[in-house]
Amino acid sequence: MRKRVFSGARPTGRQHIGNYLGAIRNYVALQDEYDCVYCVVDIHALTTLESTACLRDDIYEMVLDWLAAGIDPQRSIVFVQSHVPQVMELHTLLSMVTPLSWLLRVPTFKEKVKMQPDNVNYGLVGYPVLMTADIALYKGEVVPVGEDQLPHLELAREIVRRFNSLFGAVFPEPQAKLTSFPLVVGLDGVQKMGKSHDNRIEIAASPQEISKRVMTAVTDPARRYRSDPGHPDICNVFRLHGFFTPARVEEIASECRSARIGCVDCKKILAEGINSSLKPFRERRANLASKPGYVAQVLVDGANRAEAIADGTLREVKKRMKLLQRSDLEQLK
Ligand code: SF4
Repeated sequence: MRKRVFSGARPTGRQHIGNYLGAIRNYVALQDEYDCVYCVVDIHALTTLESTACLRDDIYEMVLDWLAAGIDPQRSIVFVQSHVPQVMELHTLLSMVTPLSWLLRVPTFKEKVKMQPDNVNYGLVGYPVLMTADIALYKGEVVPVGEDQLPHLELAREIVRRFNSLFGAVFPEPQAKLTSFPLVVGLDGVQKMGKSHDNRIEIAASPQEISKRVMTAVTDPARRYRSDPGHPDICNVFRLHGFFTPARVEEIASECRSARIGCVDCKKILAEGINSSLKPFRERRANLASKPGYVAQVLVDGANRAEAIADGTLREVKKRMKLLQRSDLEQLK
């Protein structure tokens, strides 16, 4: 029996190379060893979204990127969180065994309170319970996480443990699969690559767009003239070379330090490297995008398969909690 992996990601539209190197590559690789359930967590997104207008497009573009990158819907379940509403029901049931104090001490909750003081909504506090419900509903046994997400998973494990101790062992305690996600710094050379900072390179961008974006990248700030020796160790373009032109990093480092290469040429090499490594992805993406209804069909099929698991889990949960089932009403005196 293969173990089941669960992972969820917020719908963020077209993915960037930070998403690709950090999560998507890992999602693809995990399929060889585990039964994977990959969920687009649109309800989680509502806790911080200011507008829902782009949800539909963001889901489509993100799932298209996932599929083109190698997530295989024959092997893995790919679906949208809200399409299996049983998760909201389990969230409510789990919230009854979760002390509020556990939720109020979560560091990300405290951060969010500072970031959006005018929108400290109820969903934000319950976020870890919904995350636990996501994993538990599909009896996820393994959750790929980075070191920084370990406390969240530990809280999910605590909630599951508490439920199991009160009502009997229904859920496996999810184990962390620690993954070293490389920190990909954005084109500004300062912040993590992300959608909100406009410092990203989208993996679905055309070769021309990618070249244009790479040319805007901040390099070694101390290198003001072409004749100045550079410092590759502090240059983000150099870090990106490590991912996309690994065979040339030593040569580039040495040429940079001795000012034998200028930043423009160095960026051209990087853009070529990114473009050639993304070429097969881009071709697969164009092919999938040309099939009308393909992404929708993947999501319908994924939701059906996810729902079958969810129904079974929820039935078991209610039975253990001794909730009076509608199906038992006939025997009610
Ligand atoms: S030559 Fe390349 S590695 Fe050196 S500072 Fe310029 S962009 Fe960075």
